[in-house]
Formats: sequence, structure tokens, C-alpha cells
Amino acid sequence: MSQLKTVNFNNQAVKPSKIVCVGRNYLEHIYELGNKIPDEPVLFIKPNSAISDDVLSHKQEDIHYEAELCFLIKNGIIAAVGFGLDLTKRKLQSRLKDQGLPWERAKGFDNSAVFSTFVGLPSSIANLSISLTINGKLTQQGGYSLMINKPCALVTNINAFMTLIDNDIIMTGTPSGVGRIETGQVLKGEVFDSATCLVSKQWTVL
Ligand code: ZN
Repeated sequence: MSQLKTVNFNNQAVKPSKIVCVGRNYLEHIYELGNKIPDEPVLFIKPNSAISDDVLSHKQEDIHYEAELCFLIKNGIIAAVGFGLDLTKRKLQSRLKDQGLPWERAKGFDNSAVFSTFVGLPSSIANLSISLTINGKLTQQGGYSLMINKPCALVTNINAFMTLIDNDIIMTGTPSGVGRIETGQVLKGEVFDSATCLVSKQWTVL
């Protein structure tokens, strides 16, 4: 039987109704994909069914990792922070973009939203950042200070047209350094508050 997927928040399994993802929120990533700087946040949705604990290589497919600072919502505002991987079928996404079509086939597939556990927020979110290392090599790094649209502005922008329900997740976009995942790689995602590590999770690509 298929049931709603869960993520872990303070040792409790909670069920996000949706994941709202932000595209093009870091300049260096906009440049690396040859995109334009958007006038307003670029938003898309991953369904609950995309949530996964594992990173799957999807065998022959061209899957890219995108490491992202993620927030969990309670009472319409951000309440917890975690690390997420927005897995993307990059070639398919490029084809869909070129045709002016929606991205769901490239972004909303099963196991495309991989999360660490979520933990409560520090007193200020302004010093939050994430890093992704692959096989011990620092591959992506970014956070609040480099975001074009800051998390609270994103929440306001989203809530203006789409209700954020308790336990919904916002993926705030990826910094530069995206690339393809390969079977056997060891991916380590971390969330930092300045130099303090709040969350750390490691996956071996299956
Ligand atoms: Zn992304």
C-alpha cells in the first residue's frame, strides 16, 4: 500500500503535504546553467511522493545533485532547518525548458527529494549555511548570505498565493557546483550556524 512519506523533525515523523522549491536563488548557479536573473522567485513543487531517505542513482539516467538549505513550516512560518538534495534529471529538464513545458518529469519523480532530519532554528537564521562534500571533497557551499531571496521573503511570497500547511518544506535553491551523481559516491550534507554544525547526514549513492 502506498502511504504519505515522512521526514524527521526532533525525532518525530511528520508528513509534508508538499515541498516548495526555489529555482535560481544564487547568482553563481544562475551563471553556471546560463539562466537569467529572475524578477521574482522561481517556484516549483515536488509532491510528497518524491520524499526519500536514500540517494538512488536511477541507473542510466542523468541525475544531478542540488544541495539546498531547507526549512520546515509550522503555523505559516519557518520553524526548523535541515539539509536537502533536490535531485534533477538535468538533460530532461533542459529539454522541457527549451519547449516551455513544466519541469515535473525532471524534478518531481519518486525519490527526488532527499532530506536529513530537521532541527529547531537558532536564534538568528542569518548565519545558516549548507555544505555538500562528495567522497570527502567540498563540492557545494552556500547559505543565507548568498541567497537572492531570503527565506522569510520566500515564505511571504509563497503564502500570498499558496497556503503553506504545517510540515511543508521549502527548498531554498542551490548554490553553484551542481553535477551528476554516480553509484557508490559518498555524499555528506551539513547545515551550519556560523561554524557550529547543526545537522549532518551521509548517504552512499545506491
Ligand atoms: Zn533546486
